[in-house]
Amino acid sequence: MAKWVYMFTEGNATMRNLLGGKGANLAEMTNLGLPVPQGFTVTTEACTQYYEDGRQINDEIMKQILEAIDQMEVITGKKFGDKTNPLLVSVRSGARASMPGMMDTILNLGLNEEVVETLACASGNPRWAWDCYRRFIQMFSDVVMEVGKKYFEELIDQMKAKRGVKLDVELTADDLKELAGQFKAEYKEKIGTDFPTDPKEQLTEAIKAVFRSWDNPRANVYRRDNDIPYSWGTAVNVQMMAFGNMGDDCGTGVAFTRDPATGEKGLFGEFLTNAQGEDVVAGVRTPMQITEMERKFPEAFIEFKNVCKTLEKHYRDMQDMEFTVEHGKLYMLQTRNGKRTAQAALKIACDLVDEGMRTEEEAVAMIDPRNLDTLLHPQFDQKVLKRATALGKGIGASPGAACGKVVFSAEDAVEWAKRGEKVVLVRLETSPEDITGMKSAQGILTVRGGTTSHAAVVARGMGTCCVSGCGDIAMDEENKKFTLAAKTFHEGDAISLDGTTGNIYEGIIPTVDATITGEFEKIMNWADKYRTMKVRTNADTPADAKKAVELGAEGIGLCRTEHMFFDENRIAAFREMICADTVEEREAALDKILPYQQGDFEALYEALEGNPVTIRFLDPPLHEFVPTEEEDIKKLADAQGKTVEQIKNIIASLHEFNPMMGHRGCRLAVTYPEIAKMQTKAVIRAAIKVKKNHPDWNIKPEIMIPLVGEVKELKYVKKFVVETADAEIAASGIELEYEVGTMIEIPRAALTADEIAKEADFFCFGTNDLTQMTFGFSRDDAGKFLDAYYDAKIYENDPFAKLDQKGVGKLMEMAIALGKEANPNLHIGICGEHGGDPSSVEFCNELGLNYVSCSPFRVPIAKLSAAQAAINQR
Ligand code: ADP
Ligand code: MG
Ligand code: MG
Repeated sequence: MAKWVYMFTEGNATMRNLLGGKGANLAEMTNLGLPVPQGFTVTTEACTQYYEDGRQINDEIMKQILEAIDQMEVITGKKFGDKTNPLLVSVRSGARASMPGMMDTILNLGLNEEVVETLACASGNPRWAWDCYRRFIQMFSDVVMEVGKKYFEELIDQMKAKRGVKLDVELTADDLKELAGQFKAEYKEKIGTDFPTDPKEQLTEAIKAVFRSWDNPRANVYRRDNDIPYSWGTAVNVQMMAFGNMGDDCGTGVAFTRDPATGEKGLFGEFLTNAQGEDVVAGVRTPMQITEMERKFPEAFIEFKNVCKTLEKHYRDMQDMEFTVEHGKLYMLQTRNGKRTAQAALKIACDLVDEGMRTEEEAVAMIDPRNLDTLLHPQFDQKVLKRATALGKGIGASPGAACGKVVFSAEDAVEWAKRGEKVVLVRLETSPEDITGMKSAQGILTVRGGTTSHAAVVARGMGTCCVSGCGDIAMDEENKKFTLAAKTFHEGDAISLDGTTGNIYEGIIPTVDATITGEFEKIMNWADKYRTMKVRTNADTPADAKKAVELGAEGIGLCRTEHMFFDENRIAAFREMICADTVEEREAALDKILPYQQGDFEALYEALEGNPVTIRFLDPPLHEFVPTEEEDIKKLADAQGKTVEQIKNIIASLHEFNPMMGHRGCRLAVTYPEIAKMQTKAVIRAAIKVKKNHPDWNIKPEIMIPLVGEVKELKYVKKFVVETADAEIAASGIELEYEVGTMIEIPRAALTADEIAKEADFFCFGTNDLTQMTFGFSRDDAGKFLDAYYDAKIYENDPFAKLDQKGVGKLMEMAIALGKEANPNLHIGICGEHGGDPSSVEFCNELGLNYVSCSPFRVPIAKLSAAQAAINQR
């Protein structure tokens, strides 16, 4: 019989896939003898089963849950619904990978009108009893019945106003009792039935709700962003409550063993007295620093510090913990490897190696490559920053430099960003519904909440700059304005945020490019040490190439020669080439282009200092380059001695119904071999010239023919390339080796790779086109319908961002096997967008590719991913 439910005493940390991160760690802490309120975990498999059974908990799972409740009652000595000693529990979500704030939790479950009355009498603390009850109704309604938080918060605000108090703790037992009544009335009005009173019914509904929350929109967005498969499901943890809201000798907090923003070692966190869990995160009141806990609860604090030490040593990583103090006694509610900024991740990994807790390989494996992205983005120009005066200061909750126009709601952030505006989202505080808006913003600024607030946690996860808790801001969300340092900002006004210092500036502060130094450099050196696959870059200009080399690129995997013609002077010659009627006209135009191309190639070879450079011959549909403005058409006509009419006819003749599958790639060279000849001349002449200047460099041109689907196409074009190249080399009198290879980007090329490999020195997977042609939809159009595919769970990811290993990957595998068998010297790489996506890089490593090639800013990400893949493979 399948086991769907585990008591905390039955699990451990290795069971994360089954019990979820939270459940596995609650079990592990139990095993370590730490003070954990006991309970049980319903497995992630039960969640998957729930969905398979049509969103129902089947009888067997229900039976095991009820048995677990019985056991829990024995362990705790309390009983569900009991009048004298009632059991109250929390029902908590917890997936394999932590998804903070994405799913739901319900606290104080087990209360009803009778239980709360006896609890109020027996405890002598009616305020606490009613506080628990009103929270329970609020959370249950919101989560289980999706009634919407807002109504309840409005009711609380009204009550506070009526009593003339500012804080929720100032409400009395009677106030809270009255609120509970109002909540229940609200529930009945919205749902149409009475609020459930039977604790077991409450529990069943709550567990279902947690399962359901796996599929809520924000969880779906979060998973897509973080590469978490839908199929994993969430576990549900049912745990006895520890009460932080029983009075001033109680409290609740969140803490890290190292600073999640900087990585600095030391206890770091926030604490609220007389409060329950989510109060700290929700920014209900401004919490105090964790260190103040020492004064309030000296004994619990000492114990807590020891727990921190134990846990960090045990997990050998920075821990993020939730705890509650009930009448001075400490209870641990959660621990996990804490989320951290990229900077902190690097520092912590290096420190753990220094402290002897981790090996270099482990340090490399600890860092999420996607995180590095933030470090590679521009930073504020320190010179300008020094001269600027900050308008105000909040908490530097997530580092980075953000400049943009102020918007006041998540919806506006999305709208403005769609229009191409850079925005900074300014809010009193953020909530989980704001996630898409937060993603659209350059930075987030909140008035309330600390370093563990929702805004801070989510922003750090996304790598978005965030300044939280700037209490000096006078906010007027309704009228879309705020005031800071006597200046009023309206929607659309520009501000800059420094997520490291927490400073807020008026206007736009200029930024400069990032560099790889310090701990970043140290980790990258380790990555290089353990990596076997090379990392090249996609670069079309000498400037890009230089940047990429600075960031560690070991060659160019893709130079798109058509990108060299965007320049105004060059486009004219290029257009003449396209609109030529005869070979002579075309050759004349190509002669004008040749020196430009050669010059660019020379600069690329110089920038790469002898590292390989793959140059792809002309690829795009020609009509992309023809003039559309009347004025430009006239210019072209004059230059070619043609009439405007003639040029317009030529342009019209270039029209294609499906350009991506039209006259492009090697088809251009088949129809106009003179193009391939000119490009060959440019490559070989450039290589010879640079080789003469640097005899010690290993200059060996790699010429790549795009969009081959049939070996005869390659053979045909290659003949012109080889003839031209050999003639150039012979004339130069110096020796030069070169290679001719092809992109594998048409399914037919993968299917016939054995034939093609006989004519190719190398393969390079162009997975953008290969994906497009394998799926049969274009990258430029997929955006319109992919969302519907995500909603319907047909695709979980954009196949243009994350390599489709099943389909496209199978073609790659086939091409590699066929190709290598036919030509053992074949070297193979990838140069699609996927070359910089961590999971795709790992897959390429498994396939045994020689290199991945990605955009310059993704080079460090690809290197780290390649190292992790190599380490995992050992
Ligand atoms: P999240 O994953 O969003 O942090 P949690 O399941 O951890 O959600 O719970 C939300 C809040 O409730 C946390 O602050 C947590 O510490 C608190 N909490 C959960 N279970 C209990 C419990 N049994 N006793 C007291 N507080 C709890
Ligand atoms: Mg939690
Ligand atoms: Mg292509």
